[in-house]
Amino acid sequence: MPDKPILYIVIPCYNEQEVLPLTAPQFRDKLLQLAGEGKISEDSRVLFVNDGSRDRTWAIISDLAASDPHYLGISQSRNRGHQNAVLAGLMEAKDRCDITISIDCDGQDDINAMDAMVDAYLEGCEVVYGVRSSRETDTFFKRFTAQSFYKFLAAMGAEVVYNHADYRLISSRVLQEFADFREVNLFLRGLIPLVGFKSTSVPYARAERLAGESHYPLKKMIALAVDGITSLSVKPLRLIMGFGFFVALVSFIGCLWALITALCGKAVAGWASMTCIVCFVSGVQLICLGIIGEYIGKIYMETKHRPRYIISERTWDEPSNS
Ligand code: UDP
Ligand code: MG
Repeated sequence: MPDKPILYIVIPCYNEQEVLPLTAPQFRDKLLQLAGEGKISEDSRVLFVNDGSRDRTWAIISDLAASDPHYLGISQSRNRGHQNAVLAGLMEAKDRCDITISIDCDGQDDINAMDAMVDAYLEGCEVVYGVRSSRETDTFFKRFTAQSFYKFLAAMGAEVVYNHADYRLISSRVLQEFADFREVNLFLRGLIPLVGFKSTSVPYARAERLAGESHYPLKKMIALAVDGITSLSVKPLRLIMGFGFFVALVSFIGCLWALITALCGKAVAGWASMTCIVCFVSGVQLICLGIIGEYIGKIYMETKHRPRYIISERTWDEPSNS
């Protein structure tokens, strides 16, 4: 490696006015420490991505950028969600740096894991996943739902790194390749492994949010799981087909049985069994249609080729484009 790598820490922020003033200096201090140790270049930066916040988040980012050259900020034209915010930051950073580390701004992810991440990069890894070693500070419910989330994803054929969220180091080389993944249904933690290159993981303990509230209640987690599965795998469609065959087989046996009973003259009024079968099969059909519909919805969104993010402001001067 000829020069010290330039590191950009990419941080999505949505309505984070309480926590940003607390965590921003921590990120900068980390940069200064790593630069002081000679691991990264002095030109490394903290890049905040304001995801259309409705509170003072962008004002805070702008103030930080004005007061200290280590901070940079971009603002999305509206709220587009965590994944799109991270993507906007990574794409913005990829031509200006050698490595990026994406991390949430709420202080939950241990920034000290960055040392090991940068070390792994210096040893030749292009992608380093931050993996949670403990979830003791999460509530039992959050822990349980999160664990089930990974297990369910794996069972449905979506390849994800266990217990890894969006805290990871990616080299700009990988990002250049990733830029060709043009899908609008973004599920970064499932997509990055598809790019390939040498990767490793670094364990870290997950802490509690320093301030503010989580934006991922159960409803959004379920939505993320459904999105993750349907944008990475067609296994649910195969399962439907398998189930369809099974139901068809059972129905065939049922038909034979009904026919034989009728021919033997033993047919009785079977209202309950008829009703149960009709209800069950129509329920199953609706679920199957729903799953197919989810895929059609994804195809619909993909065919539109809408931009995945629109940057409306930057804390530095550059002709604005998206
Ligand atoms: N976030 C975002 N856009 C959104 C929701 C969240 O950029 O629409 C950011 C948020 O500011 C935080 C990160 O994504 O930095 C993770 O969100 P949060 O901490 O609420 O999720 P949790 O850690 O509870 O899963
Ligand atoms: Mg969080």
